[in-house]
Amino acid sequence: MEKLVLVGEGVFPITKNVNGDNIVEEPQTGLHIAGTIQGEGKLVGTPSLFIRLASCNLRCIWQMEDGSYCRCDTSYASFHPDVKKTWDTDDIVALVKHNIGEMEHVVITGGEPLLQKKGVADLCKKLKDQLNVHITLETNGTLFDEDLAAFVDLYSISPKLSNSVPSADKLNFYKEEESGASKYHHEVRKNIQVLQSYVDFSQKHNKDIQLKFVVGKHTDSTEIKEDYIQKINNLKKKDILLMPLGATHEQIEKSNPLVLQMCLQHGWKYTPRIHIDIFGSKQGV
Ligand code: SF4
Repeated sequence: MEKLVLVGEGVFPITKNVNGDNIVEEPQTGLHIAGTIQGEGKLVGTPSLFIRLASCNLRCIWQMEDGSYCRCDTSYASFHPDVKKTWDTDDIVALVKHNIGEMEHVVITGGEPLLQKKGVADLCKKLKDQLNVHITLETNGTLFDEDLAAFVDLYSISPKLSNSVPSADKLNFYKEEESGASKYHHEVRKNIQVLQSYVDFSQKHNKDIQLKFVVGKHTDSTEIKEDYIQKINNLKKKDILLMPLGATHEQIEKSNPLVLQMCLQHGWKYTPRIHIDIFGSKQGV
């Protein structure tokens, strides 16, 4: 049986354990029911359960237009995946089964889920075979695996622009030591071959795909166009989304005018981050 290392809240938000018994603590949403809404992308607003995988091969720290910094909003999964637990994939499926209710969507996120691709493929196969749920895979687009891709319905890819590179100044600001992932972030973050594999696979196997770019600087549009869109064959405009940089409502408000202007100028789609508007920037929602 395959195992997976989950981090933070693991499978969330839930109200029942693997045996189907009630959990005493309420979900972080403050609601007396399992589930939350997908806050971003094409499926925004869709009732979903989330599964968060530990660890990431990148260390994103962005700079906003006003010069301030903004770090990965799930640093507990990427920079410091300390609160982690190893699960059998059967137990994760049991948690989903007891908590999914009338929901039909499961979102696999991280960290970077592809770092545990064998276990994630096993999990997705079981979720499909036993529960037939819609699966979204959230990835940074640096890794691809056909066996896993075959079980996923929506590839939600967030390729990282040069503004995400964790420079020495940025690491100092967050009092972070340089690590392997931060040192090689600039080399690893952009992989056109991998992105092309997702686009080709999605078209061949009739899967949905979205490329979600996090935007915080006016120079980002040129980079999106020249370093990504012009280099990926058969990428459709409807599958390109821009998302405002920010881990808080205030930061998102600051980024919004820039992002909206870019969307209108290039005909790209805007995606909100409504989970931050509704629940704030807490974990497990
Ligand atoms: S790729 Fe995603 S999870 Fe990894 S550090 Fe960047 S924002 Fe965080």
